[in-house]
Amino acid sequence: MPHKAESARRLAGNVLLVEDNIINQQVARELLENLGLLVHTAGNGREALDALYTHAFDLVLMDIQMPEMDGYEATRRLRAEPAFEKLPVVAMTAHAMSGDREKCLAAGMNEHIPKPIDPEGLLKTLSQWLEPGGQPAPGEEDSFDTGPDVALPKSLPGLDLRWGLERVGGNRRLFHKLRGDFVANHGQALQLLEERLGGGDPNDARREIHTLQGVAGNIGARDLQQAARRLETALVEGRITAADGLPREFRDAFEVLIGGLTRLEEDERTQEAVTEPGENVASDVDIAILLDRLDQLLEEGDPGAGKLLRQVETTLPDPDLLNTLQLLAEQIERYDFDQARETLVALCENLMDHHNA
Ligand code: MN
Repeated sequence: MPHKAESARRLAGNVLLVEDNIINQQVARELLENLGLLVHTAGNGREALDALYTHAFDLVLMDIQMPEMDGYEATRRLRAEPAFEKLPVVAMTAHAMSGDREKCLAAGMNEHIPKPIDPEGLLKTLSQWLEPGGQPAPGEEDSFDTGPDVALPKSLPGLDLRWGLERVGGNRRLFHKLRGDFVANHGQALQLLEERLGGGDPNDARREIHTLQGVAGNIGARDLQQAARRLETALVEGRITAADGLPREFRDAFEVLIGGLTRLEEDERTQEAVTEPGENVASDVDIAILLDRLDQLLEEGDPGAGKLLRQVETTLPDPDLLNTLQLLAEQIERYDFDQARETLVALCENLMDHHNA
């Protein structure tokens, strides 16, 4: 990989990522971190405003539709503060309607990027406000890849694998995890949508569809994304009512996708069952190297530790350690590196105990 070209793809700065959907949040975080940016997340507009008062950010990436306080309201409120008058705010939304961009700009946002996020488009847009960065982020996939590799299936009904993988910057493990997250979080979406549609308020159904559209795009489910987009337009234009129910095209796209994902999960479980235990687990040496490197980053107060920690999470086989890992993640997110180092020591002791048990 030519180094020069890579450095041209890096940006420097602290970004506040405001997004309520857990899948969209993971995708955006991955893409931002791949650009070398430090990422802090907030789950809605109110959390975003709280974060703005306690941390300094160079840019805000703002989802529109969120519980408690949406992106429009959060932007209007932060713009009312002199301190945030010039803070770049970039909206991201799965836009079906033209006029969305205008609404974003009217609320005080600087720019608008569509979901699913196109990695090239993101770089181009953010380059308007963020300076190029030099150093590759520590814990980068290519330079520190000790975890088990995740194979892609050859094809999967309803998923455009190549395109989907591109949405997450080529991170196979994340792509794999998001497919599971989709089944867990949106597997019941058809029933939910029927209920919303029958509930009398077309806006309820429209919001659900809008979310599904963005998430589908982010996991590479192109057919469903497009069917959802057409459905959203039809709802907004009043061409579909409760009496019509969900269109066949949409139901088919959804069922093909969920069917494919569920079968894949079953296959993977069967495969795991026939694999020798421990075969896919990284060696103790790998884990020791990762933890050592993590400690070094914490000592230097390098927020890139967050990314490395996520790699540790996928490498460490022990579910008993999840709480400690979670605590560590929170401390890193708060830039509380001293506490994080202490937690890391405790984690290592725990690991030794398990090992010797
Ligand atoms: Mn949202």
